[in-house]
Amino acid sequence: MATAAAPLTIARIPHPAPTAPDLREAAIADPGFGRVFTDHMVVIDWSEENGWHNAALGPRGPIPLDPAASVLHYAQEIFEGLKAYRLDDGAMALFRPDQNAQRFNASARRLAMPEIPEELFVEAVRQLVLADADWFPKVEGGSLYIRPFMFASEPFLGVRPAKQYKFVVILSPAGNYFKSGAPAVSVWVSDYTRAAPGGTGAAKCGGNYAASLVPTSEAFAHGHDQVVFLDAAERRWIEELGGMNLFFVFDDGSILTPPLTGTILPGITRESLLTLAREEGLAVREERYSIDQWQDDAASGRLVETFACGTAAVVTPVGRVAGRAHDFTIGSGGPGQLTGKLKQKLVDIQRGLAEDRHGWVMRL
Ligand code: PMP
Repeated sequence: MATAAAPLTIARIPHPAPTAPDLREAAIADPGFGRVFTDHMVVIDWSEENGWHNAALGPRGPIPLDPAASVLHYAQEIFEGLKAYRLDDGAMALFRPDQNAQRFNASARRLAMPEIPEELFVEAVRQLVLADADWFPKVEGGSLYIRPFMFASEPFLGVRPAKQYKFVVILSPAGNYFKSGAPAVSVWVSDYTRAAPGGTGAAKCGGNYAASLVPTSEAFAHGHDQVVFLDAAERRWIEELGGMNLFFVFDDGSILTPPLTGTILPGITRESLLTLAREEGLAVREERYSIDQWQDDAASGRLVETFACGTAAVVTPVGRVAGRAHDFTIGSGGPGQLTGKLKQKLVDIQRGLAEDRHGWVMRL
């Protein structure tokens, strides 16, 4: 439950030994994804008695955890992923951080965890990015990847919602998400499923990602970049990739994306692209699409492009699809026209190069 008390201020704890500038520069010269971290973090505690308290922005470091902490046993954990971008004029900005806060609280409700006031979530992110602005990578397309998360810290082995939690935010300078940096990715249709109806598919909880590791390794072992999940009930309908939503583009210029039926993650990039596509006057459908239809349409030429979208990889064309029963190429196997156009529209808003008609960009 979000407490209605006065807004919590985030205390500043000075860093006794921040990273030396030359070491920091070396670390962010080629940061990759998710392996370099900045000097600071935000930690905020929650307990049944005190609600949200002890908010602090201090040195990043290990978090003491009792071995009985329920997150270690029953995986009561949720997270978010968003980026700080560099605007064309040099300022930093967040893209729709309120949406991440809202999705975080939706995940919290599904995992029986306390909600955090939206303003506190955004403020924690904002202050941390400003504190570690020097860590912004200088590489093309670079950003600061922001990882807010919350876990059950109460030492208790009974299976019930914990009575103590920690909300934490850390930052990781990021370059290009896909190791290959390929213009189009290749995907593997998994026999494993990600989310069942009534399950936790729409929540951003760690358990969903733990369960996706084996299917993703299988995709890598077959030489692909990402895994495609089908629905759990019929193993027929395309849901999403391991960490991205999917869009399909047809020869009549219309686009389709699977509907939010509770088993896929409601991507913020997905929602933004739907809005931009509708503004472009494109015919947009949120409808189920089957794996066999995808293959047939790719073969007949009715389907001309497919792209994946998400915070990490932005908009990425899918060039090839394979699985135990499928193997096909989409279009020329390279980036398609509409994919490029929608990507440009989104990136231009994120970079402050196009008018921000929806108030999506939060300058820092
Ligand atoms: N699906 C899954 C399973 C994801 O992990 C992500 C990344 N958060 C997405 C889709 C894309 O969501 P977003 O556009 O909000 O990053």
